[in-house]
Amino acid sequence: HVPFKRLGKEKLIVTPGSKKRNSRAAEIDATCDAVVIGAGFAGMYMLYRLRELGLSTRVYEAGNGVGGTWYWNRYPGARCDVESMQYSYSFSEELDQNWSWSEKYSPQSEILDYANHVADHFDLRKDIFFDTRVTAATFNASRGRWLVETERGARISVQFCIMAVGCLSAANFPSFKGMDNFEGPIYHTGEWPHDGVNFNGLHVGVIGTGSSAIQSIPIIARQAASLTVFQRTPNYSVPARNKKMDLEYEQKIKENYPALRAKARARPAGFYFPVNTKPTFEATPEERKNQFEKLWEIGGLPFLGAYGDLLFEKEANDTIAEFAREKIRSCVNDQETAQLLCPDNVFGCKRLCVDTEYYETYNLPHVNLVDISQKPIEGFTRKAVVAGGVEYPFDAVVCATGFAAMTGSFDKIRITGRNGLTLTEKWKAGPKTYLGLSSVGFPNLFLITGPGSPSVLANMIPAIEQHVDWMVDCIAHMQNVGAKTI
Ligand code: FAD
Repeated sequence: HVPFKRLGKEKLIVTPGSKKRNSRAAEIDATCDAVVIGAGFAGMYMLYRLRELGLSTRVYEAGNGVGGTWYWNRYPGARCDVESMQYSYSFSEELDQNWSWSEKYSPQSEILDYANHVADHFDLRKDIFFDTRVTAATFNASRGRWLVETERGARISVQFCIMAVGCLSAANFPSFKGMDNFEGPIYHTGEWPHDGVNFNGLHVGVIGTGSSAIQSIPIIARQAASLTVFQRTPNYSVPARNKKMDLEYEQKIKENYPALRAKARARPAGFYFPVNTKPTFEATPEERKNQFEKLWEIGGLPFLGAYGDLLFEKEANDTIAEFAREKIRSCVNDQETAQLLCPDNVFGCKRLCVDTEYYETYNLPHVNLVDISQKPIEGFTRKAVVAGGVEYPFDAVVCATGFAAMTGSFDKIRITGRNGLTLTEKWKAGPKTYLGLSSVGFPNLFLITGPGSPSVLANMIPAIEQHVDWMVDCIAHMQNVGAKTI
């Protein structure tokens, strides 16, 4: 794909002094029906649907290209954990038929290619302003309109303001003491350098053991001279058993894609895989073991479908959790390390991770796991990370510390609704929304997969489509009945 820049189309407004700025207070640079903030899968599909409805729409995107998550997360090993035949848009049968995935779980670069393909195919770019961060959105109650402001100084008046800012898009940078003095590079998996990082021969520290860490650690370990992983909380992970796309399987799905999409939509998580509805304890211990083994061999999230009550009955959940822990203990040679890697929380409550040789990586002689659950990281020196009173010298550090999830990207925008209340103030004690779609006091502000919706506990592209379709139906209904705000 070719990164696309639209610099210049939007006026860069220079405001040398406050007087001048005040005199601009009433000026509007553009008026349109809707602004969409973010050009990931949510923003792109929303633009497509609003155009269909005939609304003049602008999309503002902080990055220099489409794809959102897949534009920013370029760390080694980044790939989807819902199989690609289902982690993709379902709104266009033509798209479904014309696109081919090369692997069962496609890598970041291919998902980004797909996002670019969609942008080109549906000619989306002409309404997207890249490299432009939205800084504020203010509701004017008397006019029933939002004023959206960008970091480039543009002010746009719109009826609808649509937040497609992502649940996992505001990188969570830890602020350890002395971090600024560290002489080597410090990376964050969610803002990975576009030209890659070569860890060959380096002593590397990875902070975190969430999904990004679980995907990247085996690959970084292959390059690094030594790798030290700092773990606060272990996560359950199931082997992906990723493989090249089986062309027969692809063909079979494509012959009846709408049926698969419909089955996926009918599932609570928007993702179809066979679920054995039988209760766990109707099976004998031996049958259970065989069932778990069979699905462990298949790999991936379908492991959760072993029995119908695994996510609802604690005793049933204990059986699958213990099976997973046993797998860790049998995979990792050093039993002290294995024990540290064993979670003791509910299996599948946090989104399950999917890996390729994650646990096996700890058998390599140059890979070391440090438990920071009791003795946290104290800080950085010029050349090392200090934890539990021990200095760990590194050439480079990777923060796989995830995101300010759900609300992080909302907090970065000053969103002011009725009566001057900001969304951040309203959500101070936790976000309050209607089904994650909207929040009282913020009329015509729609949140795609906002907090309180299934979002990251679901296959997110169908979840996005469901929200967008509902919002577009709602806007169409408003037009029909002549409503100005909702
Ligand atoms: P995003 O893709 O996060 O896009 C939001 C966009 O908004 C970003 O480009 C951001 O730059 C932009 N933005 C934010 N604030 C502003 C602002 N103020 N001004 C302008 N632009 C702004 N989900 C699954 O279902 N299956 C998976 O396998 C899966 N794998 C994942 C792997 C990783 C590494 C991560 C981080 C997430 C994964 N997810 C997965 C979740 C993923 O985030 C969603 O699937 C989906 O890509 C979200 O799309 P989105 O458009 O809602 O948000």
